[in-house]
Amino acid sequence: MPVQCVKGVGGARAAALSDLGIETVSDLIHHIPRRYLDRSCICRLSDLRVGDSVTTYGRVKRVWVERLRSRGPLVLARIEDGPAAITCKWFNQPWRRGQLKKGDRVLVSGTVGHYHGPEFVHPECDVLETGNSRMAPDRGRIIPVYPTVGRISQGHLRNLIRSALDACEGELDGYLPTTIIARHRLVGRRQAFWGVHFPETVGQAEESRRRLAFDELFFLELLLALRHRSARGGAQGIAFPPNDELVQRLRRELDYEFTAAQERVLGEIIRDMGESCPMNRLLQGDVGSGKTVVALAAMLVAVADGYQAALMAPTEILAEQHHMVLARLLDRLGIRVALLVGRLPGQAKTEVRSAIREGKVEIVVGTHALLEEGVEFSDLGLVVVDEQHRFGVAQRARLRGKGASPDVLVMSATPIPRSLAMTVYGDLDLSVIDELPPGRGSVVTRCANVGARGKVHRFIEHQLDRGRQCYVVCPLIEESEKLDLAAAEKTYDVLRTGPFSHRHLALLHGRMKGEEKDEIMTAFRSGELDILVATTVIEVGIDVPNATVMVVEHAERFGLAQLHQLRGRIGRGTERSYCILLTGRNLSSEAGRRLAVFERETDGFVIAEEDLRLRGPGEFFGTRQHGLPRLRVADIARDADLLSAARKEAFALIKADPDLEGIEHLGIGREFGRYHRARLELADVG
Ligand code: ADP
Ligand code: MG
Repeated sequence: MPVQCVKGVGGARAAALSDLGIETVSDLIHHIPRRYLDRSCICRLSDLRVGDSVTTYGRVKRVWVERLRSRGPLVLARIEDGPAAITCKWFNQPWRRGQLKKGDRVLVSGTVGHYHGPEFVHPECDVLETGNSRMAPDRGRIIPVYPTVGRISQGHLRNLIRSALDACEGELDGYLPTTIIARHRLVGRRQAFWGVHFPETVGQAEESRRRLAFDELFFLELLLALRHRSARGGAQGIAFPPNDELVQRLRRELDYEFTAAQERVLGEIIRDMGESCPMNRLLQGDVGSGKTVVALAAMLVAVADGYQAALMAPTEILAEQHHMVLARLLDRLGIRVALLVGRLPGQAKTEVRSAIREGKVEIVVGTHALLEEGVEFSDLGLVVVDEQHRFGVAQRARLRGKGASPDVLVMSATPIPRSLAMTVYGDLDLSVIDELPPGRGSVVTRCANVGARGKVHRFIEHQLDRGRQCYVVCPLIEESEKLDLAAAEKTYDVLRTGPFSHRHLALLHGRMKGEEKDEIMTAFRSGELDILVATTVIEVGIDVPNATVMVVEHAERFGLAQLHQLRGRIGRGTERSYCILLTGRNLSSEAGRRLAVFERETDGFVIAEEDLRLRGPGEFFGTRQHGLPRLRVADIARDADLLSAARKEAFALIKADPDLEGIEHLGIGREFGRYHRARLELADVG
């Protein structure tokens, strides 16, 4: 039901609600307070003391703007309660002007200062009641504070939510089995809706929120459990016999032993491949943990049984590098491996395609070019997708569709916090390589202000003198691609003509032609180039052990997970490496905290947890297009335990009663079908 069905919601208010992401009645009752205030903890205006951090309330007497020559517009509001008054000030937030009006009753939180009288600078301010509305004053002890925008007051929202709850009274009950309710000590669903919006105590508010969050996560995991089941249980796949002859020969060709983690994970994969239902597994491992060789071993198990295997990578550079590594090893085993990338000349492409179709090659490495119409396999048994977050669900499905229910192994070097993995990749089984091969040189990480650029250049020079190589990475963010590219070019020119005019430099970015990139990468790998200035195309997979310095320009613009990926390009040899993060002069405190975590931590999983905590799941991947469902109540970072519990219950339920036919599960099935499935599927989870 659209939110207009609620009494009091007309066109204008519906538009305002829409800005809050509220389109339906269901969205409205799931719009939960972001915090609660205990009335007994609110300080009267007359009792404020300078230096106190408090929440207080009053009526807006006057709102006005002063133009400051040095600092942009200053919005001021005078708040009064009887004879007591305070002035609120916001610098450079002109929109505040429209948010407050004379007569509004407001709740203000901040630290009390003093400048010609008491003042708050940049306080948090929530409109409880607008000047022209005549609402009964709140009597409850607990005041919920909702996220709002524009001119919707807290009071308005509460009234709308109250009439929405009244109108849906018959629909508020939930259908979770009593065993689950008891196990997790959940309050009733109807009770939870009222309790989260109109609590008597903060404790009641919290347990109500917990119930609603549990339901949300439970139904999300139910969807994933159903997918997991249909992926594995539906089709009859290939049961590969655990023939490890080729794997043993591969081991003899390597000049190292597998780490214990690689052995364990390979065991999991081979066991899974041996089962008749198709494998659908995510292999996670930090950069440099050695996923490629594990994937290669898995491919050899398929090849040993007479099948083909395909490895798909997101960029040509990476596909070519994989091809090179694999070809060198496989040549000695008498196994043929082909490369298929978009920029192959027509003739060569046709030849590779027919070799694949006729089964003349056992292993194919490629990019998106593998997905094209004309690419047919004679007998595709295993699909490996590297850096899989760079591909969409549809692309993975497409490659899988080139065989008859082949096994699928997807790999990711972006360590993802467990909780996030459980939602985004929740329908996959998980293997984790949690150990790096021995003998890696350590990486020292330091932040430096752009003011220290000269010093940084001297440091690079010193390393180049010792025969090392250096990356200089410039951000390239989709929204401002043109500007960023220009900035990268400028950085390159400045270095090339200035401090490093006596060195060999090259610029690498994603807009270049494949051959051009190739030449540059080859030159860098062979040591002909000293410095590679690059956009984030070098993020994935590139392996040049002699490169021991990385300078990241505008480091504050990168997410931690992405910085971690970048840093993984150095420290690949035995020498000590250095990662230098150059930041702008006005670093926000949030960015400062993030970079400090990065200076200190090297474990990708720890960094990922921090990134999730600091930036929230939406920002975690850098963009929003990663199949994250829009959660209305639950917070993945904060509710990780609840998520884990909900997942266990949902998977157990589907295992016990896959079609939700049991009499005690009919309600869940109905609730899922009616309210949850479509909304969650829209988000295209996984
Ligand atoms: P990633 O997991 O980041 O894809 P790679 O598979 O590219 O890592 O491996 C990184 C490097 O480590 C490669 O040069 C590879 O040859 C090497 N390597 C892989 N496994 C081991 C091991 N067990 N011992 C030593 N070196 C290894
Ligand atoms: Mg890799």
